Amino acid sequence: MSEIFDVIVIGGGLVGSSAAWRLAARGRSVVQLEQFGPGHKHGASHGTSRIYRQAYDNHQYTGLAAGALPLWRELETTTDIGFLELTGAVDHGLPQAVQSKAKILREAGIKGEILTRAEASARWPGLRFDTTVLHHPDAGRLHADRAVTALKAGAVFAGAEVRHDVRVLALARASYGVDVVTDSGTLAARQVVIAAGAWTADLIADSGLGSEIV
Ligand SMILES: Cc1cc2nc3c(=O)[nH]c(=O)nc-3n(C[C@H](O)[C@H](O)[C@H](O)COP(=O)(O)OP(=O)(O)OC[C@H]3O[C@@H](n4cnc5c(N)ncnc54)[C@H](O)[C@@H]3O)c2cc1C
Repeated sequence: MSEIFDVIVIGGGLVGSSAAWRLAARGRSVVQLEQFGPGHKHGASHGTSRIYRQAYDNHQYTGLAAGALPLWRELETTTDIGFLELTGAVDHGLPQAVQSKAKILREAGIKGEILTRAEASARWPGLRFDTTVLHHPDAGRLHADRAVTALKAGAVFAGAEVRHDVRVLALARASYGVDVVTDSGTLAARQVVIAAGAWTADLIADSGLGSEIV
């Protein structure tokens, strides 16, 4: 019988590549399958700019985003690929939303300061502020293309195999886990992570696994 991988990750965007990196770093045998070539622009993870921020109106998101920062930095160091530039960010608009984010940051022990309109205007003369402003320094720009490249390099460095130009056609339950049917053969895995972005619904519908997917 061919090798049974611990995990097959379907999708080579930001989510699948993050999963492949962290799972491999935890010692799992991992194969990541991506239907297109490296650097493709058909999904949601290409281009240069994504916002990285810790200020959310939700404790859980704030915790996840703050927990991600040391991992992003670790990845930059491991791969020698820089992709995250902290510039700081300002939130303004609905006062209760601004205050709510400020409260969540405070409770999480994350840096943030409330400024009056006048203070903010003096600090950032190019911006117009109509309300109280929340400034949070641990936010900035994440270069998406480079982050995907770094995540895949990190995954390979941690022992994962990344295969491009392999399209998953179907998933089927097997005694050991899941058979992953691709356009270049069938692979066996104990578990599958589906990170297929906009293709996820179709892949799940076509898989026939239905309620077995969590
Ligand atoms: C314009 C825009 C602006 C955004 N701004 C922000 C922002 O500022 N901050 C932020 O945090 N987020 C932002 N996002 C969201 C963020 O970019 C996405 O959440 C993220 O890129 C999604 O990654 P993904 O891996 O889930 O999906 P994708 O990048 O789409 O990856 C899915 C991958 O699965 C592959 N795939 C699908 N089906 C199969 C198959 N059958 N076999 C093999 N491979 C398959 C696809 O080819 C694709 O590469 C933005 C998104 C967009 C589009």
